[in-house]
Amino acid sequence: MSQPENTTTQATALTNHDRKPIHIPGSIQPHGILLALSTQLEIVQVSNNTQVYLCKAPEDLLGRPLSYLLEPQPVEIVKQCLVKKVGSANAFKVLINTLYGEIYFDAIAHRTEEAVILELEPTDSEFEVSFLNFHSFASEAIAKMQRTSNLGEFLHLVAQEVQKIISFDRVMVYQFDESEAGSVVAEVKREDLSPYLGLHYPATDIPAQARELYTRCFLRFLPDLTAEPVKLVPTENPTTHQHLDLSYCLLRSFDWCCAEYHQNMGVKALLVISLIQEQKLWGLISCHHQTPKYISYEVRKMCEFLGQIVSSELAHKISSSEWDYKVKLKSLQSEFLESISQADNFIDALIKPEIRLLDFVSASGAAVCLDNEINLVGTTPNIDEVRALIEWADTQVTDNLFSTDSLPKLYPEALIFKDTASGLLLLRISKVRRYYILWFRPEVIQTVHWAGNPQESIKAEGDGSYTLSPRKSFEQWQETVRLTSLPWKGCELESAIALSNAIVGIVLSKADELAKINLELERSNQELASFAYAASHDLKEPLRGIYNFSTVLLEDYAQVLDDDGIECLQTVVSLSVRMETLINALLRLSQLGQAHLREQATDLNELLNQVIDVFRASRQDSGLVDIRIPRPLPTIQCDRVLVNEVFSNLLGNAFKYNDKAEQWVEIGYLSQEEGQGVGSRGQGAGGAGEAIIHQSPIPNAPCPIFYIRDNGIGIPQHHLETIFRLFKRLHSQEKYGGGAGAGLAIVKKIVELHNGQIWVESTLGVGSIFYFTLE
Ligand code: ADP
Repeated sequence: MSQPENTTTQATALTNHDRKPIHIPGSIQPHGILLALSTQLEIVQVSNNTQVYLCKAPEDLLGRPLSYLLEPQPVEIVKQCLVKKVGSANAFKVLINTLYGEIYFDAIAHRTEEAVILELEPTDSEFEVSFLNFHSFASEAIAKMQRTSNLGEFLHLVAQEVQKIISFDRVMVYQFDESEAGSVVAEVKREDLSPYLGLHYPATDIPAQARELYTRCFLRFLPDLTAEPVKLVPTENPTTHQHLDLSYCLLRSFDWCCAEYHQNMGVKALLVISLIQEQKLWGLISCHHQTPKYISYEVRKMCEFLGQIVSSELAHKISSSEWDYKVKLKSLQSEFLESISQADNFIDALIKPEIRLLDFVSASGAAVCLDNEINLVGTTPNIDEVRALIEWADTQVTDNLFSTDSLPKLYPEALIFKDTASGLLLLRISKVRRYYILWFRPEVIQTVHWAGNPQESIKAEGDGSYTLSPRKSFEQWQETVRLTSLPWKGCELESAIALSNAIVGIVLSKADELAKINLELERSNQELASFAYAASHDLKEPLRGIYNFSTVLLEDYAQVLDDDGIECLQTVVSLSVRMETLINALLRLSQLGQAHLREQATDLNELLNQVIDVFRASRQDSGLVDIRIPRPLPTIQCDRVLVNEVFSNLLGNAFKYNDKAEQWVEIGYLSQEEGQGVGSRGQGAGGAGEAIIHQSPIPNAPCPIFYIRDNGIGIPQHHLETIFRLFKRLHSQEKYGGGAGAGLAIVKKIVELHNGQIWVESTLGVGSIFYFTLE
């Protein structure tokens, strides 16, 4: 593929070319004659072919009044032009007496800056196309056009109707894009000709000046591209001393460049009708014929009229197809928003079905990034590329909605994935949480076929300048419009904003909901704690009564009771003692639920000594117990009283649940580094290196992990978590000294009040290690 030599030079040179005055060629096409008149209707310039049609040489006409040639009535019609604005025309039939006999002409007079130009085209007939014929044709065509449901169908019908009127070999509808390049969007053609439908043409194919003339005159007719132009005599207008402005002339001769361009396609006759939308050239109906072909003025007028109707209907069809698209986006939007607002899994709702997220803005790929988790949909760059792109956007893009149709030009790393993401639409929902949705579009080159190589329509001249030169080949080439995607439409951006608003709304309402639930939870926790406290406190009083009266009965009325009665009363006493223990445990737990920590720097060695002293004092056999403290414990910030309770409970259990002859307990801690592998190690608690299986999750501890290890009876694996539940005991009251089954629940509560965690590793018959942290 040939590359542009120097785009800047070319662009400038093209602008110069565009300025080449094609509206003042100084000549006309030979299928008619031209008379330039002064304000007094004196003939001041004529085309050099008057001899052919009027049997009068130019010099016979120059300087003569128009009345020399025409009857008073047509002269009057021409005269009326003088009061009209530039470009306005009067058309009429005129009969001129010549040496060849009487000849009918189609006469078109139009106002120019200087005065009037009169063009005469010989015609076979004195009759105009019947209005009724024209009306019936036009109304039928209009009705059909109005019935078409979409733009494509409409334009195809237009091509068909025009073809019906002029019977050319090929009729195409050609549409310009924003860069003024164009594409063939509808075509009707002779079967043996190769199709041009879908081909794209570079902007340089139709120079700016030509485009400008198409917005002024809505029909351009070149019946014979091989015909020699006819010069004007004299060359310059005697009034202005300049070339005559032929902008509005139907006979204006054509550029050699245009002729050669079309002849390369085998075209000999050309008729072009402008399609205007909002005062701008939207496109052209371009009609080609392989041989020279003349179309009468009236028929051309019909075509022009049709073109105007198409132009006005076009606005409606475009806005209705844009409307249809917007409606489609809106309905996708509401479907989408409904499903994500009801979804439990937010990401799933966004990306399933995949096509919905893509259709939402007509993208070919998308990436949904929520909390650093990236999900890709459709055709996209890979995860790492998307991640890097988001990082770039974090620093370079300030707006929450960002779109570009040429990402690689802003972010050179995107060159690698230009095929999938030359276009980017980025929606930042939250920068802090890293909530992003990105949509991608491929490089436009993937979707477009250019007709010929656009660079070939620019030709370098010997003097170093560039001029527009017709393409030599019409094979399909791919344009060098690189690194660009189809542009993002306003309604697509609006769609993305709507999605963002909805997501923010949903997230906020979920947060609101959560806050309400939290509040509710806190309140009911509070209520529960005060209920437990009140209940356990109030239960104690009647219980005490039962205990007291039972004891009185036992002491004072033992003689009137038989042995069964005494035994029953003794059971009542012991049950009420047990019940009091349970109530006290409940009371303690509910107190802890409402407790506020009184944290202070606590030397755990000191604290542990107190615990051991109390423990030894309360147990006669405690002398037999070996208490090991391998290294001094640290001083930490904690609630001294509560942590004392933790150590007392765990130490008490360590001895209680031990049936070995030589009992020992080890109290120690693992520093932050030592603690790293505790969970994964899955061993190491047993005295002789016995395997102790870890069950509970190990926190990623930033603080020391304390442990109390014994060589007791151990705990079955399936109870490693349940033992922390309130009143959960693994043994009957008679065994291991009984208990309320509340100690570990209380310990757990205290640890959690310190934002810590507690868990246990154990092997039956070998021993247990209770770990806990206090943050
Ligand atoms: P209690 O000791 O009053 O029964 P805890 O809540 O302190 O209540 O303990 C719950 C249960 O956990 C105990 O009944 C016992 O079965 C088991 N347990 C606690 N500590 C140990 C230990 N060090 N070794 C073996 N089992 C233990």
